[in-house]
Amino acid sequence: KQKDYTTETVFDTQCPFCSVQCTMQLVEERVVGRSRYKVLAKDNPTSNGRLCMKGLCAHQHALHPERLQFPLLKKNGEFVRVSWEEALSFIRDRFTAIQTEFGNDAVGVYGGGSLTNEEAYLLGKFARVALKTKYIDYNGRYCMSAAAAAMNATFGIDRGLTNKLSEIPHARCILLAGTNIAECQPTIMPYFRQAKKNGAFIIVIDPRETATSELADLHIKVKPGTDAALVNGMLAVILAEGYVDEAFVKERTEGYEELKKHIEHIQLDDIAAMTGVAKEIIAFAARQYALAPTGMIFTARGVEQQTNGYMTVRNFLNLALVTGKIGKIGCGYGAVTGQGNGQGGREHGQKADQLPGYRSIENEAHRQYIASVWGVPEEELPRKGVSAYEMMQKVAAGEIKAMIMMGSNPVVSSPNARFVEQALKTLQCFVVVDLFLSETAELADVVLPTSSYLEDEGTMTNLEGRVTWRPASRKRLGEVKHDWEILCELAKVLGKGEYFSFSSAEEIFDELRVASRGGLADYYGITYERLRRERVYWPCPFLEHPGTARLFEHSFAHHDGKARLAVVENKYEKEEPTDHYPLYVTTGRVLTHYLSGTQTRRSPTLASRQIEAVMEIHPNTAKKYKIENNALVKIETKRGAAVVRSKYSYKIREDTVFVPFHWSGKQNINQITDDALDPYCKMPGFKICAARISPIVDL
Ligand code: SF4
Repeated sequence: KQKDYTTETVFDTQCPFCSVQCTMQLVEERVVGRSRYKVLAKDNPTSNGRLCMKGLCAHQHALHPERLQFPLLKKNGEFVRVSWEEALSFIRDRFTAIQTEFGNDAVGVYGGGSLTNEEAYLLGKFARVALKTKYIDYNGRYCMSAAAAAMNATFGIDRGLTNKLSEIPHARCILLAGTNIAECQPTIMPYFRQAKKNGAFIIVIDPRETATSELADLHIKVKPGTDAALVNGMLAVILAEGYVDEAFVKERTEGYEELKKHIEHIQLDDIAAMTGVAKEIIAFAARQYALAPTGMIFTARGVEQQTNGYMTVRNFLNLALVTGKIGKIGCGYGAVTGQGNGQGGREHGQKADQLPGYRSIENEAHRQYIASVWGVPEEELPRKGVSAYEMMQKVAAGEIKAMIMMGSNPVVSSPNARFVEQALKTLQCFVVVDLFLSETAELADVVLPTSSYLEDEGTMTNLEGRVTWRPASRKRLGEVKHDWEILCELAKVLGKGEYFSFSSAEEIFDELRVASRGGLADYYGITYERLRRERVYWPCPFLEHPGTARLFEHSFAHHDGKARLAVVENKYEKEEPTDHYPLYVTTGRVLTHYLSGTQTRRSPTLASRQIEAVMEIHPNTAKKYKIENNALVKIETKRGAAVVRSKYSYKIREDTVFVPFHWSGKQNINQITDDALDPYCKMPGFKICAARISPIVDL
């Protein structure tokens, strides 16, 4: 519309930075030939018209002058602009030559949890149909794999939240374990504040005080890596004092007798010694949760990014099940997803072991169904591959010789990131699809420019399992293509265009709906037409279905309808401090940054709020190691060293330092994080690493 000499254009969109998927309008005002922007929050039933700072500034990276606009091909060590035709032909020739010589599995595919549902779906199909490789996995392996595997094993299905967010105020006890919602998903904090106003008792389990723990009635500053043992202590109190919901356990669960036998041997004194938490506190927390009429448990990466993350989450689920606090209003569990499409990204086939609709790539009936949807012979579908980090190990070993990567920056985000960087340098052909020349894209042979959240239409699924539609609101820059268009064009030059003849995201979604039909994550009843009016919860198996907001009201998703309790040991293999590496280093996010910082470090407003990686350290610890406040510190683990700035804080345990992971180069803490993997879900042990620190005297 025209206002005097100002032109105003309004773009409806959705924030790309976390799983809440807040909606907003970007308003561009052009005043005498120059643009200025403002952002207005838009209402929706999840974020209720709220936005956090990241959402308010998201357009800054999308409009950044460093956005890639043309395909780049490395020639004599330098990137040069090339046509799409040249870039795609180069990829076809290299991939074909490598697969002809070394077999289909010599090419790997690496995806991302920020892709739309359509693009995650198409990437899985591209790997299996166009490349016929078994090697596909994605960066969500480092994010949701422990919680997803635990929910699958316990409930028979993996959906981030078992209830809708608006039920949180109905909970009378809330347990937040290893999650810093106030900084990572700020717009859902009001649900917890409302719960507290309504009388909820809030327990936070975290080795450090955070913006989230400020809300807590009880903050348990647990010793890193002992969360599963802490829950065993709580279970011991619940069983000993008779707080088990016997009827629920009998009717709705399997495995109670084994769990009971195991828990009867738990000594609270041992748990207190192990966790550093007084037994009275453990008992108090157990009673608060068990005796509350309603209760919800939330976990996130703090307890999941451990080499027993899977079993730890299973123990939290034990807690919910033995007290019968699931499947009812104000009673449930949530894995608080971090990535923009952390939920949808893990449902449609980007995972090594998975086909769309949460189907298994090793299940014959599932394979046959998907093969029929895709129109390919079942026997041509590859089998199960390996996890994200194991793919990097295969690259290093020379088994995977080429790779295409979409929406991920593992040079910053992988554990033992220097190893990953070296491995990627050995690839004979490395293709990266990204918005920017990220640290990983710098290593590529070909970089293909993709569209941002403002330009790319598609659906995403928020942390509640609610499917949302994001319109394409702005015109694409330069020669940028959408991820799905790139995959379709690549498939075409590889001779598989007939399986990828899509002309819109909606067409892909319609195929996804059919592929998911009858699966656990059933989207069949969800259409674009419907999503333009409402956000819909899956499972939604037919068009008239209202969607399923609350899971497990009457049964769980295992064939017998029962949930599975698990026996969880107190101890497991992890990197413990030694004389040589006497401290724990743990990692996490800060309010103004997202993942590897590729986008948020390019936003002037967000970057200026925190320009570098700052290590939180207790002043007593700092004194012991002669670390000044605000000084550069060398932090070392067995895998190498990083350099970060110190910040004194009484909020952290004396045996632990905390470093956020959004920066690259020497500041990248993931250069030194633990790459040991959880045996069940292959989650690396990011959060528990033995470290030593020393002042940097001379630069
Ligand atoms: Fe909402 Fe998350 Fe974006 Fe913040 S980062 S505006 S909470 S979607």
